[in-house]
Amino acid sequence: MTAPLIDPFARAIRYLRVSVTDRCDFRCTYCMAEHMTFLPKADLLTLEELDRLCSAFIGMGLRKLRITGGEPLVRRGIIGFFQAMSRHLDSGALEELTLTTNGSQLARFADDLAAAGVRRVNVSLDTLDAEKFAQITRWGRLPQVLDGIRAAKAAGLRVKINTVALKDVNEDELFRLVEWCAEEDHDLTFIEVMPMGDLADRLGQFWSLADLRARLATRYHLTDLLERSGGPARYLRISETGQKIGLITPLSHNFCESCNRVRLTCTGELFPCLGQEEASDLRGVLRASPDDAVLQQAIRDAIARKPKGHDFDYGRQQEDGQKIGGQMRRYMSHTGG
Ligand code: SAM
Ligand code: SF4
Repeated sequence: MTAPLIDPFARAIRYLRVSVTDRCDFRCTYCMAEHMTFLPKADLLTLEELDRLCSAFIGMGLRKLRITGGEPLVRRGIIGFFQAMSRHLDSGALEELTLTTNGSQLARFADDLAAAGVRRVNVSLDTLDAEKFAQITRWGRLPQVLDGIRAAKAAGLRVKINTVALKDVNEDELFRLVEWCAEEDHDLTFIEVMPMGDLADRLGQFWSLADLRARLATRYHLTDLLERSGGPARYLRISETGQKIGLITPLSHNFCESCNRVRLTCTGELFPCLGQEEASDLRGVLRASPDDAVLQQAIRDAIARKPKGHDFDYGRQQEDGQKIGGQMRRYMSHTGG
């Protein structure tokens, strides 16, 4: 195995999340404005450029690649990109190729993804109520996503449901979501809503996972698990169903000390941290030189600037009343969740 990239805080960087588009066929209220202005096509990395960049990372010891967006499956030609990346799985250089999707296109693409070596897929789903689903996603339709999830399962993909915990929105569905995932044998992770983009409703929507956990404990016996997946999730076991539930709590519990990941936007900016504004432009480097050694040096320089921790903090916004301290002005779809 190639020696990993090491950041200034001795964390080995083994995981890259790549946003392949800022576009999406949904307009989730916590993620995008209803009328978004998307980037001009020339600003996006081409699929060939994405291949070159991802391959450079893999050549530097990267083991896990997650494709995200925007909605990755709406990018034209994306299956060809997955097929191209599968050569790194075949060679053993890459351990895992995955994606995060809203599920809308999975019925079309699940078989192709499985054939390209994808074994797991994260599907974002906040509610099992069709009306609420339409309200949250604005443009999405629940049956299409449920069909996609069924297709993924039929193709042999392991499905993990990602649910953003939303006060007054899906609080009342907590047990239903848990039980549905148990019945369908899907993994389940809850995520606290993060202050990205336009903050308008974000503060009112915040539902702490400490509270969510307490609510789960009124019905189930819970055991906190010590294991970590190298990512931000902590886990607990529900004795009654045997399920392992993930909790991603960027606000109420800081997870930066074990962070092993960096993020690449669809325009080639490398964000060493989701919760900081600093980024390095790799597109300029890519387009200026065909020499991969130059590109790898730019990657090393970027990793050398990975900060110790993120800067999310709802408290600070409430104190100073402004949308600056502790909030990222970028939309989540820009950096890729
Ligand atoms: N379109 C794909 C999807 O929805 O899964 C991939 C991109 S989406 C930006 C990735 C994840 O970010 C989703 O699980 C979504 O729920 C989550 N997300 C978006 N905005 C968020 C926010 N403000 N706080 C927390 N999670 C957010
Ligand atoms: Fe699209 Fe995913 Fe953002 Fe929803 S969360 S608008 S599906 S990118």
